[in-house]
Amino acid sequence: MIKLKKRKILLLPGDGIGPEVIGEVRKIIQWFNVNKSLDFEIDEDLAGGAAYDKHGTPITDEVFYKALESEVVMLGAVGGPKWDNLEFEKKPERALLKLRKELKLFANLRPAICFKQLVNASSLKPEVVSGLDIMIVRELTGGIYFGEPRGIKPIDKGERKGINTHTYTTSEIVRVARVAFDLAKKRANKVTSCEKSNVMEAGQLWKEEVQALHDKEYKEVKLNHMLADNCAMQLLRDPKQFDVIVTDNLFGDMLSDQASMLTGSLGLLPSASLGAKNKNGEMRAMYEPIHGAAPDIAGKDIANPIATILSFAMALKYSLDLDKEAEGLEKAVQGVLDDGLRTKDILTKGMKEVSTTEMGDAIISKLK
Ligand code: NAD
Repeated sequence: MIKLKKRKILLLPGDGIGPEVIGEVRKIIQWFNVNKSLDFEIDEDLAGGAAYDKHGTPITDEVFYKALESEVVMLGAVGGPKWDNLEFEKKPERALLKLRKELKLFANLRPAICFKQLVNASSLKPEVVSGLDIMIVRELTGGIYFGEPRGIKPIDKGERKGINTHTYTTSEIVRVARVAFDLAKKRANKVTSCEKSNVMEAGQLWKEEVQALHDKEYKEVKLNHMLADNCAMQLLRDPKQFDVIVTDNLFGDMLSDQASMLTGSLGLLPSASLGAKNKNGEMRAMYEPIHGAAPDIAGKDIANPIATILSFAMALKYSLDLDKEAEGLEKAVQGVLDDGLRTKDILTKGMKEVSTTEMGDAIISKLK
């Protein structure tokens, strides 16, 4: 068993805009080390297409072991058209799936917050989204993306059959529901659990186990159950009714992307993927923006680094127990938005356009 090294941060910039947005986080970590006397140990390596180009694999064993011993893994993004035609096992995205699965990062936290300064960037009416603050907790290592049997096999008369299997066990459901209830207690104290218990047995089990955990340990938290399709609709109709949403891997994938667009830009939203705490209270975790490698804007110094910077703020809060520093970083981001600085993706009339690096520098100057 590889031991986790406290305060070790592994940066995996990845592909496309990944290195640009992680570059801004590297500056912020160094700022904390110098100005707040923190002792973060930074390491950096290849993942995704960049790793494939150099080593013929999206993640080498060496990098994987580095991830295992790091308290925080900060990932940029992986992928791009250059690698689209590789066989499945060699695709850049396999690096991500391997890290999530092998580090046992079963809880994916995706906040969807509508910044007041950007309320007009959403495609929904300002009154629907202003003040929005939802936390989606997606189960990340089970369900249909990992279930067996899976594959494509020939059947009769030249036809083929694609197979994926949706399974959940009690413990897989309970551990992620626990994360949702614990988060709710620090927020508005409300959990909405989503499944399709009307048509899927695994959904029925999900609903029963979440309810049982609630009744046993979290009676003080308000719990309601919602069918996942209804949740998709409610997120557009009245998103502010939600506080914490907990759901499985597949529905979480879709609902969290949908929720992200309530806030206007992919370039703003962070995420955390957390494992279980060991008996010393230590936990493996990976933090990444929810956007991809954005090959269309890579190398132009125009990507929005805020999602990745806020992902680091989540790392400060959830992994490093530095709530005050996390808050300071979030406030610095707000301050820069208040000053009217915008990267191209969130630029509106009257605001000042800045580059990726200028945005990072402006946030650092607010930290000071
Ligand atoms: P994407 O998120 O990369 O880009 C979608 C659109 O949003 C693009 O127009 C892009 O320019 C814009 N965008 C994304 N992030 C931005 C930012 N920080 N600032 C400004 N604009 C931003 O999604 P896609 O185009 O569907 O995927 C591109 C590649 O990324 C694919 O290879 C895909 O597989 C991969 N991908 C990786 C991850 C990941 O690493 N976690 C997630 C999603 C997609």
